[in-house]
Amino acid sequence: MSELHVYNTLNRKKEKFEPLHPPHVGLYVCGPTVYSDAHIGNVRTFTSFDMIYRYLSFLGYKVRYVRNITDAGHLTNERGEGVNRMESQAKLESLEPMEIVQKYTVGFHQVMELFNAVPPTIEPTATGHILEQIQMIEELIQKGFAYEVNGSVYFDVKAYNEKFPYGELSGRNVDELIAGYRDLDGQEEKRNSIDFALWKAASPEHIMQWKSPWGQGFPGWHLECSVMSTKYLGEQFDIHGGGMDLKFPHHECEIAQNKGACNQGGARYWLHTNMLNFNGQKMSKSFGNSILPMEFITGNHPLLDKGYAPSVVRFLFLQTHYSSELDINIKGLQDAEKGLKRLMDALQVVQGFASTDFNKEETSLGKDIQVLCAGCKENMDDDFNTAKTIANLFELSTIINSLKGGQIKFHEVSKEALQRMQETMNDYLIKVFGLKPIEETTSGKLGDIMQVLIDIRSEAKGKKDFATSDAIRNKLQAAGIQLKDEKDGSVSFSFL
Ligand code: AMP
Ligand code: ZN
Repeated sequence: MSELHVYNTLNRKKEKFEPLHPPHVGLYVCGPTVYSDAHIGNVRTFTSFDMIYRYLSFLGYKVRYVRNITDAGHLTNERGEGVNRMESQAKLESLEPMEIVQKYTVGFHQVMELFNAVPPTIEPTATGHILEQIQMIEELIQKGFAYEVNGSVYFDVKAYNEKFPYGELSGRNVDELIAGYRDLDGQEEKRNSIDFALWKAASPEHIMQWKSPWGQGFPGWHLECSVMSTKYLGEQFDIHGGGMDLKFPHHECEIAQNKGACNQGGARYWLHTNMLNFNGQKMSKSFGNSILPMEFITGNHPLLDKGYAPSVVRFLFLQTHYSSELDINIKGLQDAEKGLKRLMDALQVVQGFASTDFNKEETSLGKDIQVLCAGCKENMDDDFNTAKTIANLFELSTIINSLKGGQIKFHEVSKEALQRMQETMNDYLIKVFGLKPIEETTSGKLGDIMQVLIDIRSEAKGKKDFATSDAIRNKLQAAGIQLKDEKDGSVSFSFL
């Protein structure tokens, strides 16, 4: 039997996974920032960790899965400076910051449910852990790794680097980093440009702020994950995950805070998921190429040809290893839709086999089946290689289809081999990959229905029947769907 090995980005090698306190496993994943909608790139990262969580549970581990909510405001600049995005979004939408938090947290949960991601076992928020964050800062000041200036507190990277190596996760070097930051402004307060904020003093008009020993202010972003991971999983725990773009500075700073305060770096295994690109460019709000999950499902986006079921998108993600970049395009989506259908059909067929005409002995085909089934676990044990596991499932589905079509006779396989095939198809497709048959989802149907309504409205407008066209628009609005007449004459819709 194979054993789970994971690629540990901290040590840059594949390592046997040995939890600290088996059968318990502590898993911490950096959660979403909740000042805007999650895009499909975020969904790739969170569904990858959902697969990892599901597989660990499938192996029999009792996983405590902590995924935080970043709700205390987030500064644009990677060194903890710049604009507070929560604040700007609250102003833009004329809402209280905590209304922004609530709105986008609820939205995030809906997206996760839609994509069949199992909720974490603990979902702590940064604003719910301000006291603990203050405590960790006090600890760091006391140990000489942080200093206060004008009501703000910074982490002293150089002082830390004398005791522990800073940059071990990202492979960066302190002197080079300092040289790289030299020209940037906004660092007058800091001893060194590389130092990062643990606590920032707030001006009176700053909308999210708390009382601290250093005056009114708010915590730096990196701190919340050090605090919440160690609070719920211990000063040393098993796995820490997040997107590759968080490796530096976020995770590097987390390790420094943990070692500075607790003498140990928190997680023993670091797993990083790679980015989702669209037409070769990283999907990101700032590039304007981010597609919202709902737009994927309805197909209501100029870059998409039609809607795709959440399971199709999940399946597309699983066809590429989580640590490789993934570029999505229409062809990939269409192929994923066909591939998922083939596997789900095979699952249904294999579960329906009722023959009793099995071979009493193990046959050579039966042995091949056993090898393919065992291979699913071997592949998953090899750093969660979903792509190779899917290849095995396709081979099994070919055998299933041949049994169904009569090209292979039932007495060519043993009962054990058939049962193993039934179990394996169900275990990996449903339990580990979290996929659903396409028919159970709304794949494109909503988009199709909306197009019918939009066409009826356009026809009514053409006949100057404004009563009908207005009624369609108003009734959809009451149902939470907004129609928008575009400049080119087309009509799009969005959810209110
Ligand atoms: P955010 O809410 O933007 O802080 O991001 C939440 C998670 O999504 C983080 O782990 C990011 O690394 C990840 N993420 C952001 N953009 C992408 C992308 N294009 N592809 C995959 N993951 C992403
Ligand atoms: Zn984090």
